[in-house]
Amino acid sequence: MPCGVVPAHLTEKLNESRACMKGTSQKSPRCIALSGTPGVHTACTIYENRPSPCREFNAWDVQGEPNAECQQLRAVLGLAMLKAR
Ligand code: SF4
Repeated sequence: MPCGVVPAHLTEKLNESRACMKGTSQKSPRCIALSGTPGVHTACTIYENRPSPCREFNAWDVQGEPNAECQQLRAVLGLAMLKAR
């Protein structure tokens, strides 16, 4: 498989023009490509081929401050807040 191509079998159709990773449109989302336990150790099993939203989401901004959306999600999951770099 060429680098940068999301494996189609791990995606699901949202509508005529959009798709998402399987598991991410659930009420309690968990991407099918995620391995491990959040808060302990996790890894993306398709890191080199992850989709654009994943490539564009950064945990820290260019000033080294934590991403507010990431902090909100961490709070929902009961994970420790990220610190500024
Ligand atoms: S980075 Fe990988 S595991 Fe995380 S949501 Fe994207 S594809 Fe799924």
